[in-house]
Amino acid sequence: MKVLKFGGTSVGSAESIRTVIDIIGQEREPGSGLVVVTSAMSGVTNLLAEMATNAAAGQEFTAQLAELESRHFDAVKQLLDIPHQNPVYTRLKIYFNQLEDLLQGVFTLRELTAKTRDHILSFGERCSTLLLSRLALQHFQEVLFVDATEVIKTDSSFGQAKVNTGLTDLLIRNLVTENAGKILLVTGFIASNDAGQVTTLGRGGSDYTAALFGAALQATEIQIWTDVNGMMTADPRLVKKAFSLPELTYTEAMELSYFGAKVIYPPTMIPAFLKRIPIVIKNTFEPTFEGTFIRHDVKANNNLPIKGISSISQISILNLQGSGMVGKAGFSGRLFSLLAREQINVILITQSSSEHSITFAVQPEAAEKAQKLIIQEFELELLAQKLDAPVIEGNLAILAIVGENMKQTPGMSGRLFNALGRNGVNVRAIAQGSSEYNISVIISATDLAKAMNAVHDAFFTQFNKTLHVFCLGTGQIGKTLFNQLQQHGDYLQQNNSIQVKIAGISNTRQMLFNSDGLTLDTWQQQLEQHGEPADLAEFVARMKSMNLPNCVFVDNTASPQPIVCYGDVFKANISIVTCNKIGNSGPYSQYKKFKDTARKHGVDFFYETNVGAGLPIIRTLKDLMSSGDRVQKIEAILSGTISYIFNNFKGYVSFHDVVKTAQEKGYTEPDPRDDLSGKDFMRKILILARDAGYPMEAEEVQIENMLPQACLDAQTVDDFYAALKAEDAYFNNLKQQAESSGKVLRYIGKLDNGQASITLQMVDESHPFFSMSGSDNIIAFTTDRYRERPMVVKGPGAGAEVTAAGVFADLINVGAN
Ligand code: ADP
Ligand code: ASP
Ligand code: MG
Repeated sequence: MKVLKFGGTSVGSAESIRTVIDIIGQEREPGSGLVVVTSAMSGVTNLLAEMATNAAAGQEFTAQLAELESRHFDAVKQLLDIPHQNPVYTRLKIYFNQLEDLLQGVFTLRELTAKTRDHILSFGERCSTLLLSRLALQHFQEVLFVDATEVIKTDSSFGQAKVNTGLTDLLIRNLVTENAGKILLVTGFIASNDAGQVTTLGRGGSDYTAALFGAALQATEIQIWTDVNGMMTADPRLVKKAFSLPELTYTEAMELSYFGAKVIYPPTMIPAFLKRIPIVIKNTFEPTFEGTFIRHDVKANNNLPIKGISSISQISILNLQGSGMVGKAGFSGRLFSLLAREQINVILITQSSSEHSITFAVQPEAAEKAQKLIIQEFELELLAQKLDAPVIEGNLAILAIVGENMKQTPGMSGRLFNALGRNGVNVRAIAQGSSEYNISVIISATDLAKAMNAVHDAFFTQFNKTLHVFCLGTGQIGKTLFNQLQQHGDYLQQNNSIQVKIAGISNTRQMLFNSDGLTLDTWQQQLEQHGEPADLAEFVARMKSMNLPNCVFVDNTASPQPIVCYGDVFKANISIVTCNKIGNSGPYSQYKKFKDTARKHGVDFFYETNVGAGLPIIRTLKDLMSSGDRVQKIEAILSGTISYIFNNFKGYVSFHDVVKTAQEKGYTEPDPRDDLSGKDFMRKILILARDAGYPMEAEEVQIENMLPQACLDAQTVDDFYAALKAEDAYFNNLKQQAESSGKVLRYIGKLDNGQASITLQMVDESHPFFSMSGSDNIIAFTTDRYRERPMVVKGPGAGAEVTAAGVFADLINVGAN
């Protein structure tokens, strides 16, 4: 025989109740009986609890009572044939009258005992089950409504009663034997004590009712029908990427649900486990989906390192410390039996190995009571200052990772803490169950959503890791980056398992945010139509307050303003990717600070495009150094403009004409002297020198000026060109000198023994910079390993496409960490 349980949403509307009837029809094996346990309609238990509290506070409850009545009456009207409606109305009305009497009593006495509260709550399950049983009668023969207070017997711990399993088993078996072959529709959640008073099994307890029936009847299967596709890797309301788990062991299901996976009530697993009855969690709203099997012989199949991540969103912790605890046998025994006696549920305990302190977590409502109890119990120790006064810390949450595979897989906690650390989530306390089936951490409640998603990304790597990117600058590079992201987004997801969401964009005029990611093909319209006025400080503040996991700040500007924010961004544990050279080529102390702060906060600072646009120069240097090689010399041409000019300054052309053409082709700055002065080149050499380990300042880079004084003195760009023309002979002379000895002119940056310079040189055929074309950049690393022939990186070193591609590559590298 099977036992089916339908949760609140499954019986929450007429439409879903019809589906429930279909499912019952499908699951019932011909000729055999079936047990169907039902919860209250969704929201009803909460409503009843609210009415009870209101009544005790002397507040109105009649409007809520009317709401409750009409919800049930409406369902009757929609579901039952007219001749069947009246008897149900009558029966429901009797329930509502009893309920009203109870509430009236509470109202008059202004007192709500746990006993009365349970009695009040019991009407939710009674009404829903009655309704379902009468509808079932229209579809099946032999249907019986069962009020579980008649068969589930408990002690008198109202609110969370303990079941007398021996007696309960017996009563259930008798009931089923007497009603063999029938469909029993049983109220979930409720029971009764020896005196016949109504008790409840704890919130969410209908699952437990089903397990009690399953165990008593040695059912073949207990099916828990709910509103999600089984037990998932995390609560899908918190983690959008959560996915369904095909199977779990009882222990795993227990641990996940104990730490907040509400989809099944933790005690449910015990009777099922003892009798080895499989539990299947299924979705009423997608009945064909397989769901999750919880059973003994879970194949060690799936190679998931953990099964899931669950959380309790609000807890408080109490901290006890003092010398009186050290080596004192029985201290924690005294503490925890005190709490147990007073029915304070301790969710988690950690004790330092020195025994100097104990931290434990409780529901926020219980914290003050626990504190008072401890002060009473340990009065003497407190007086003698052997114990410090217990301190409550609130607004905390628990995040737990669970899975039996954890035991065999090293590095699980490392992965957990890395994900939390990189996202700036501070861990207040840690507990690892001795079973190694779970590791739980206590963190700030405000960080919970971010932490859940980050940890999910870290463990379930077969799915995409989501980067939340905040982009500053929508010029050529910014625009091109968005285009590239749009074009390659799918490829990135499939091949690198990285999904990039643009969560914020700002230029100097407007800014826009969207934690789900802006649509890339229409970002421009969205920014124009919905953007708010740009404000850099506000942009950074919003990025921080959105508190999203795996954040990256991308600076695609060439402005000094964003640089000021870098420190703050790193401190918020957000990585930075930038093509803006201004930061790294400022004072050395600033460069150093960026690096140190990023390292301290465990985030990345990538700026590959500072030196050679998309060419892998910074990365190559880093790889060489971190593999133990030593850089002896770096030579480079790192200006696309200057490269173009000298590559084309040959034959009969004049220098003036080449510069002019370069300008016409858009290679130069508006005033070509900004390129020819070597300033931009200097910044690149400076950054390289710093990355190579030299604490150099800009003034230390020696720049040989290639322009005659008259060209520098010219007032306007036109004047400059005139002066350049007048110096034709000077440049021709240089060119001829070079050509006559088989050489070419090259403006080369060099780092040699800690000295950096940029000079105009003539190089012959044997030099790696001899044959160059277009606006190529080139860099040659001479190192201990590459001593005979330097390692050369060469290729286009300017332009929006290649620069944006470099930024893109940096982003992917952040994603890979
Ligand atoms: P029912 O009323 O059917 O008993 P519940 O509301 O008690 O349903 O439990 C189902 C809910 O549990 C889901 O809607 C989901 O939001 C939540 N939940 C929390 N953690 C998990 C998880 N790991 N897997 C699936 N659902 C979860
Ligand atoms: N109706 C009860 C509750 O809301 C029991 C249950 O749904 O399992 O807690
Ligand atoms: Mg439930």
